[in-house]
Amino acid sequence: QHEAERRAFDGTGRTADGTRVELLANVADPAGAQAALEASAEGVGLFRTEFCFLGRSTEPGVSEQVAAYRQVLSAFPRRKVVVRTLDAGADKPLPFVTADGEPNPALGVRGLRTASSRPGVLERQLQAIAAAAEAENAEVWVMAPMVATAGEAADFVTLCEQHGLRHAGVMVEVPAAALRAADVFAHAAFGSVGTNDLIQYTMAADRMLGELAALSTPWQPAVLELIRATCEGAARHGRPVGVCGEAAADATLAPVLVGLGVRSLSMTPRALADVAAVLQRVTDAECVELARLALAEDDPMEARNAVRDAIRPVL
Ligand code: PEP
Ligand code: MG
Repeated sequence: QHEAERRAFDGTGRTADGTRVELLANVADPAGAQAALEASAEGVGLFRTEFCFLGRSTEPGVSEQVAAYRQVLSAFPRRKVVVRTLDAGADKPLPFVTADGEPNPALGVRGLRTASSRPGVLERQLQAIAAAAEAENAEVWVMAPMVATAGEAADFVTLCEQHGLRHAGVMVEVPAAALRAADVFAHAAFGSVGTNDLIQYTMAADRMLGELAALSTPWQPAVLELIRATCEGAARHGRPVGVCGEAAADATLAPVLVGLGVRSLSMTPRALADVAAVLQRVTDAECVELARLALAEDDPMEARNAVRDAIRPVL
């Protein structure tokens, strides 16, 4: 019986009590948007726009960007698509945006930080996103990667408003933003936790190093604590928080994230059905209790085992 439920996702995520948890897809190009559609994703929680920029020596023009973004937006008419602005730098260097030879590129000028030295690139991208949204009549939310401070969030929101993009938020992937979430969400309309980078920066463990896998897990209590802090700070301003890092695809972790206050999960399309099946079988109160169980452990494996044992009947 569980197997049958697991194979299909009906396109509406919810807990056993009926609390809505939006189940969205991570999309990196038009083919990914089709995969998301086939898996019944409710929308797109992370549209990575780098595909339009990578492997080029010059910036794509605004009309070229509009055409590329429309190909993804057109797959989700009138549904939520969270577009992330260019995340260049670190593992994604771009000759016309980032500088060569930084000693520590992961801690360098990446993500929103590139807007200080190259403001035109972000402005033209926002112009293209706004035009694509208008042409497709799409519900576009826009967010910036690598936001560390409330001031950066405020500047980004202002810039988005100047381009007619009224639903502007931030990725929470730097511990500083999580710790000061109440300040950040005074400006940002929503947040999306990027666990891949949040883990890297919290644990000081390069996300590319398999050797550090034991440190690099969302089950680390320090990481869960920062997600909780993010949700608390956002709740003070009534702002919704989602998770769009790879952790969102962990079906055992999903109820814990909901218990911490997360209300949308964006993941690789093939994980949607399993995550939906687990959430449907736990109540809101059980999610809160599972989050408490996980946070009570000081070892990530023990946290995972404790939660797994508690939900074994539904897995
Ligand atoms: C993340 O950091 O969790 C994230 C979703 O962004 P990326 O993996 O593209 O850095
Ligand atoms: Mg990231």
